[in-house]
Amino acid sequence: MSSSDKKIVCEPQSSLWLPDSDLAAQDLEFALRLRTFAREKLAPHARAVDEQRTFRRETVLDLGHAGVLGGPLPRESGGGGWSAMQYAIAHEEIGAVCGNARGFCAVQTGLVTTTLHRFGTAQQRARWLAPLMAGRAIGCFALTEPDAGSDAASLRTVAERRGDRFFLRGQKHWITNGGVADVALVFATVDPMKGKNGITAFLVATNAPGLRREAMPGVELGHRGSDHATLTFDGVEVGADAMLGEVGEGFAIAMAGLHAGRLSVAAGAVGIHRAALAAAVEFTSARNQFGKPLASFQMVQERLADMLTSLCQNRALVHRCARRRDAAIETIADLAMAKLAATEGAAHAADQSLQLHGARGYSSAYVPERLLRDIQALRIYEGSSLIQKTLLARALTTNPK
Ligand SMILES: Cc1cc2nc3c(=O)[nH]c(=O)nc-3n(C[C@H](O)[C@H](O)[C@H](O)COP(=O)(O)OP(=O)(O)OC[C@H]3O[C@@H](n4cnc5c(N)ncnc54)[C@H](O)[C@@H]3O)c2cc1C
Repeated sequence: MSSSDKKIVCEPQSSLWLPDSDLAAQDLEFALRLRTFAREKLAPHARAVDEQRTFRRETVLDLGHAGVLGGPLPRESGGGGWSAMQYAIAHEEIGAVCGNARGFCAVQTGLVTTTLHRFGTAQQRARWLAPLMAGRAIGCFALTEPDAGSDAASLRTVAERRGDRFFLRGQKHWITNGGVADVALVFATVDPMKGKNGITAFLVATNAPGLRREAMPGVELGHRGSDHATLTFDGVEVGADAMLGEVGEGFAIAMAGLHAGRLSVAAGAVGIHRAALAAAVEFTSARNQFGKPLASFQMVQERLADMLTSLCQNRALVHRCARRRDAAIETIADLAMAKLAATEGAAHAADQSLQLHGARGYSSAYVPERLLRDIQALRIYEGSSLIQKTLLARALTTNPK
């Protein structure tokens, strides 16, 4: 390590820096509270879980204890009664520090708990909501299959009905939390010939006989402190009381869950973008070459200025979406634009930040390479960037005004 490394900070505190904000006073206070939580409970482990590729169970309990996992649910159901704006703020704060923790929350709360709260029966809610919100139980959302990714309606996991019992057969893959979950929200079809109209949602305890779970093969690019698994259903038996909604309503339930959760992905990308910019500012201010700080060179300044401008643009789209959700006027296009811009913008910012760190940016001793690896999955899951563009094009061409 050179003498100049001593003044260069590997994990800058300023990754928690918010360069611009027009938040209402109570939302700013909320952001600062979440920022403190992220700095104290998540930041100390963010690099280690990535390097060691470990899912950290204690983090789940910390998230539950801090009220993050139940945050968006109504207070009368034991949740935090957060607005959509607060959900976006929280997931930006967590995403700026630890992509694994943010991804966990997106699935646990955005996809599973919120969906269960909205569509579950009283018995299902009574059994699972409290432990999921506290972090004592873990949930997963099992939609994607080896032959059904973006085209989720073509899924082939079958729910064969015999009387009031269903027998699930098929395979899911890339399921976040799949290997550690206590309960899985599973989408299966009662009749593949019916297309999306046959898809039905089931809540399945993961210790059910016939359910096999295996880690995804290979070493993943990012989200290395997360759990991703294949779930194989070999005649898993469930009663009709395991259904969420009615037979044939599963596709709409899945899409509603993804719509709710996708805001987390967009906000989390803003967090990654912010962390990339903060690291670049801190590093280029401390690192001297040619007798001056890197940040004094105009080409470096141009990059920093562009990163800040796109950060504010993308955050504005995410906050616009959250405000419109709070006002119940959000459209699919609002969310598609926010996710598309925020994830693509953050990927570019992370790449720029890495380049501005020179060789150090190439090492896990500095944050940009983790940010650059983690952001890639956000461009793929909950609807890839190209799928967001198809949604936008559809909105433009089928609803011209
Ligand atoms: C880290 C991670 C976590 C995940 N967690 C979960 C989870 O918890 N639960 C779950 O169910 N799934 C999960 N997934 C799966 C994820 O939702 C899918 O990977 C995603 O939907 C894309 O599906 P696919 O990988 O099969 O790609 P494909 O659908 O095969 O797409 C491949 C490429 O083709 C493009 N493409 C596809 N269709 C079109 C089209 N009509 N027009 C233009 N381009 C198109 C895509 O944009 C992409 O670039 C996760 C994935 C990752 C990487």
